[in-house]
Amino acid sequence: MLPEVTQFLATQPLRMFIGGDWVEAAGGGTFETRDPGDNKLLARVTAGDERDVDRAVKAAHEAFRKSGWASLPANERAVYLHRLADLVDKRREVLAQIESLDVGKPLAAAMAGDIPNVSSTLRYFADISVHARRREPIAVSGFEARSIRVPYGVCGFIFPWNFPLLLVGWGISPALAAGNTVVIKPAEDTPLSTLYFAKLVEEAGIPKGVVNVVTGLGETAGAALSRHAGVKRMSFTGSPEVGRLVGEASGRNLIPVKLELGGKGAAIVFDDVDVDATARSLAGAITLNAGQVCCTATRWLVHEKILDRLVQTAAEALTSTRIGHEWDAETQMGPVVSEKQRQRVLGYLERGQKEGAKFLLNGGAATVKGHEGGFYVKPGLLTGSPDNVACREEIFGPVAYVMPFRDEDQAVELVNRSTYGLANSVWSANLDRANRVAEAMVAGNSWINAHNCFPQGVPYGGCNLSGMGGGVNSPETFHDYLRPQSILRPLA
Ligand code: NAD
Repeated sequence: MLPEVTQFLATQPLRMFIGGDWVEAAGGGTFETRDPGDNKLLARVTAGDERDVDRAVKAAHEAFRKSGWASLPANERAVYLHRLADLVDKRREVLAQIESLDVGKPLAAAMAGDIPNVSSTLRYFADISVHARRREPIAVSGFEARSIRVPYGVCGFIFPWNFPLLLVGWGISPALAAGNTVVIKPAEDTPLSTLYFAKLVEEAGIPKGVVNVVTGLGETAGAALSRHAGVKRMSFTGSPEVGRLVGEASGRNLIPVKLELGGKGAAIVFDDVDVDATARSLAGAITLNAGQVCCTATRWLVHEKILDRLVQTAAEALTSTRIGHEWDAETQMGPVVSEKQRQRVLGYLERGQKEGAKFLLNGGAATVKGHEGGFYVKPGLLTGSPDNVACREEIFGPVAYVMPFRDEDQAVELVNRSTYGLANSVWSANLDRANRVAEAMVAGNSWINAHNCFPQGVPYGGCNLSGMGGGVNSPETFHDYLRPQSILRPLA
């Protein structure tokens, strides 16, 4: 462990970051965060409640009105964001160690994926903000008129535990670049990287109160943030169940809300693909982050002619995936985030079988020598009716549900039965067919001959149970954090 990480974890309980100060919760409460790789205590963290949220929203409002952040020229604000990105790059190893330990994701994945993605997202939105047009003249007879775009004010963010810091980067970068101030409520399972990130915000010299972090439980701190009348725009990433609650609270406050929710992504595989390569890609999709990826390929619809071969190759790839503690250099798939999450995955395997699904590859609990307390799960493949619970609902673990299809229409119909609508993929050498199917699948995103691709510049969001108002890494997302205002003068 790097000395910086040891030092960061040593000052317990870890405090929240409000108005530029590191503070304890008004109620004095704390909660634990544990290493999912062996269930050892990592830290005690302050548990904020309504009073702390209120303090944070007020600090963010004050910073919006008085710190000068909102009125800075975009290029000057961008300098701060680039400085913050530089610090994220400089402390990449520290952040990666913290993230890996808190989430259970392989250290190499945090080093090569999550953390660099945060700095590049900060830079992407900083650069967009410099070139964005914020004033448009309007040609209208008898008036001098223009439309301007201004930041909302305090934006609230509630995040899940699967990609904690990466999602903070995707969420707050456009809001900050547009001149808003933010209050973040990280997931209680994984608050650590967000708290360390707040230290970098401080070091980057970003004015006090522009970024605030309130740690705490969902039903207290999360609920208080979602209903606070001082929040002018809300963003929630997490489950559809909680998304509805946050959406309701935002509705009552009459503020716009962005909901990035769960998914049940499908992959349609036609019989003209390189079967082994596709099987390995799909196996990789369900072991990525131990399957805790909202948009990953969890329903595999495979042309009946290649089904056996694809399943056999995928099963071989999954069986040889090295499961281990996230800091073991050999590990390809770490634990799931908590015992609760492991029980959720195991519960779906059991319920799926009770409803008639069969294992093509046995999933279930796994143990790792030397880390017996960890929350490990073996990858599994199920097959059966499309109405099975394991095919319909989000499991959020290393499990796929495999079904054969005969023709294109049947495959598309099976995909579109889902109540979710986040992301799907189609795999075929025939690009006309692939493009046709990509457009026919109902979701925010369709990928061709790949799954889980997020280049900056391409919008990413869901429909149906997967939420609304996404965008994530595109110019549209930046504009989401600006509201229009018209200025008008009658000409004499
Ligand atoms: P969750 O909905 O249980 O929790 C998400 C956040 O909401 C946490 O910070 C939690 O503390 C908070 N929360 C809980 N109850 C609350 C309440 N009553 N009011 C306000 N906030 C509350 O989700 P999770 O288990 O942390 O994450 C997994 C889910 O997130 C999956 O469904 C996954 O698909 C989804 N997800 C979606 C995306 C996307 O971009 N669409 C990305 C990542 C994860």
